[in-house]
Amino acid sequence: GGNSHNSYQHKLHASAEERRLMEVELRDAVNKNQLHVEYQPVVNAASDHTLVGFEALVRWNNPKFGNVSPGKFIPVAEDARLIVPIGEWVLRQACRDAMQWPETTKVAVNISVDQLTSPAFMETVISALHDSGLPAWRLELEVTESIFLRDGGLAIKILERIRGLGIKLSLDDFGTGYSSLGYLSNVRFDTIKVDRSFVQGAAKKKAESLAIIRAVVAMADALDLSTTAEGVETEAELQLIQELGCKKIQGYYFGRPMRFADSLDLFKAAQRRNVA
Ligand code: C2E
Ligand code: MG
Ligand code: MG
Ligand code: MG
Repeated sequence: GGNSHNSYQHKLHASAEERRLMEVELRDAVNKNQLHVEYQPVVNAASDHTLVGFEALVRWNNPKFGNVSPGKFIPVAEDARLIVPIGEWVLRQACRDAMQWPETTKVAVNISVDQLTSPAFMETVISALHDSGLPAWRLELEVTESIFLRDGGLAIKILERIRGLGIKLSLDDFGTGYSSLGYLSNVRFDTIKVDRSFVQGAAKKKAESLAIIRAVVAMADALDLSTTAEGVETEAELQLIQELGCKKIQGYYFGRPMRFADSLDLFKAAQRRNVA
């Protein structure tokens, strides 16, 4: 009836209002030091589970909103084009932090389409590497299939130039977007990241998820690309993913996103084990 209609309108209004307030707060988030980066381990799927790197995941703590998840504030930042300065801050921080890890450890940074196609993006990446001293091969940029939707031609050109610098490229959340296999022949990715939904579906014996992971791994193997399974939480999921032949694993089973200081402690603990 009329009442439920009104409350629906009210909800929509409240959410738009919340986004507007969030946008206002996000504008000074970098200057007010409200952002930090957490790092989640990525390990080899092979039996020893060596640490190969970390994915940088941005965090926002704001006095009005508290801790806001990136799933919520990144879309707001994208709409307001604040993703360009925020993304640059994350990239520079991640490159600097990675320099403190042992010298084979990589760092992966998520890049939104508006950031990738912004005019100064190449310069920003080059200067982030230069200022931190991080070698290009230790930096990995993660993009999703959505980049091919809006201005595919421009995105492909920029990705080629990124590759030309020696930076690694990953295709994130694979299988959840508007997948068209054509772009895999236009851009040379290093890694395909199999979305968590397939990993968890496969663990529940969902035939479609199993078939999709098998197909992605077979295709990646044929194209000589690596694969990372996202969202591995349990021993059972780990075993299944190993059987399916994914090369790398990321998920709560091996580690949640952690503060930079805690990532350093991981190496110190490993060093103590080696000395002992
Ligand atoms: P993503 O790039 O696919 O990152 C993986 C997300 O899955 C992270 O969520 C991570 O905490 C979560 N995750 C990892 N392992 C597990 C697991 O075993 N179980 C479950 N349930 N979740 C797991 P988070 O940190 O909330 O980030 C969400 C998304 O926000 C990211 O998805 C990425 O698309 C975006 N994002 C995060 N940081 C940045 C950034 O600096 N720039 C941009 N453009 N996007 C970012
Ligand atoms: Mg990612
Ligand atoms: Mg992902
Ligand atoms: Mg994801």
